[in-house]
Order: sequence, then C-alpha cells, then structure tokens
Amino acid sequence: MKEINKIIIHCSATREGEDISAATIDKWHKKRGWKGIGYHFVIRLNGIIETGRMLNECGAHTKGENCTSIGVCYIGGVENFKTDGEYKAKDTRTESQKESLIIILRYLKKIYPKATIHGHKEFAKKSCPSFNAFEEYKDLTKIETNGIYTNKLARIINWVYGFLKSYNQSNTNRK
Ligand SMILES: [Zn+2]
Repeated sequence: MKEINKIIIHCSATREGEDISAATIDKWHKKRGWKGIGYHFVIRLNGIIETGRMLNECGAHTKGENCTSIGVCYIGGVENFKTDGEYKAKDTRTESQKESLIIILRYLKKIYPKATIHGHKEFAKKSCPSFNAFEEYKDLTKIETNGIYTNKLARIINWVYGFLKSYNQSNTNRK
C-alpha cells in the first residue's frame, strides 16, 4: 500500500430506488474472481455507510489508482427505466446519501489530509459516478487538516474500522 493521495467516488450503476448492500457487492466482486468487494465504503439509499475493504488494503475500483486511493461507492447511478435498450446514467443520490458522502469525505480528509477528491470518470471512459464529483467536492479537497494525522491515529482508526466490519458481517450472517 502506497501513500493515499486520492479519494475516488463511484456509483454502483444500479437502478434508482433499488437498495443494494455492501454484502451483495461483495458477492458480485467475488464472482469476478476478486478477493471481495473492491470499494472501501458503500453508501446505502438511507445514508447508512457500510464498510468494504480495509483502509490499509488496496482497492479494486479504479484502474491504475487502486493502491493510492480510497474508493467510495453510493448505491444507484442509473435511471430505473431503459432508454434505447439501456439504463442511462443519472445522479440518483438521495439527500441522505449526499449528507453521508460529505461525512465520509470529511472523515477521510482527516486521515488523508493531502488526498484530492475525484469521480471515477476522470480516470476511465465511464459515466460513473453520474455527477461531477471533482467540481462538487473541490472545497472539501482544499480542506487541509494539518497535524491531525499520525501513524498511531491511523492504526486506531483501522482497528475501529476492522471491528465495525466484523460486527457488520456477523450481523449479516445472522439474517
Ligand atoms: Zn466507478
């Protein structure tokens, strides 16, 4: 894992109004032969933030940037009907998802103060995440939370993160 210098926003490219969990994306990505979900965070329709990969693990979400970025995915990103045989890209973020995106971005900027915020489409010929993340979050990108980051803090955050992850998994298994 190299130094994290970017936070990259994605959408799940699932239809507007359809709620998908991190556990489901984990299954999809395992089917592709990956070790599991490629994103570090998933934001559900109701704004719940679910954990994916550990922060100290390389992601699998943006070719060429996976070990230098954190991947955040909101659920949605396409219309819920087809036009000319396909689901067109649409910014389907709910108000709760917009709020949670800002919360998670502020949190990540505390851990990675120098990281810049982007949308997947800046790195690939895709419409993901169906809005202009670079423009929308440029003021958040400028926030420099100097002095808050320490290795010790990063270790503690990772510990809490791992705890939440196993807690979520045991809850998922119980269902
Ligand atoms: Zn994407």
